[in-house]
Amino acid sequence: MAGEPQDDCLFCKIVAGTIPATIVRETETTVAFRDINPQAPTHVLVIPKAHYRDAATLAAGAPELAADVLRETRAVADEEKLESYRIVFNTGSGAGQTVWHTHAHVLGGRGLEWPPG
Ligand code: C5P
Repeated sequence: MAGEPQDDCLFCKIVAGTIPATIVRETETTVAFRDINPQAPTHVLVIPKAHYRDAATLAAGAPELAADVLRETRAVADEEKLESYRIVFNTGSGAGQTVWHTHAHVLGGRGLEWPPG
């Protein structure tokens, strides 16, 4: 069920502390940690602690939690001193989503081309 921890979810395990991650920020409702395979000098993932499979499900089911995630992307960018950065929610396998627990990628610290691949 949306919002409930899933036994087979990697990011639920990071929230629970049973899989290690380099956590850079944590709030009551969110965790931000460094991506294990960084695509830019700063590459941080911001996730809701509650399990929502993708950004669309989160936006529809818990818009206030989506706002918490977005607020945290700003906090990460401030802490990392990013003047320009990109926030990405890959949504669906065709868009490159591989982990089915909503996450915002915060990418910065280098020039970023547009459009993305
Ligand atoms: O948007 P997508 O679902 O492809 O992003 C998943 C991200 O999770 C990848 O960038 C991957 O490197 C990251 N990851 C991680 N730690 C893990 C497993 C995946 O940071 N243990």
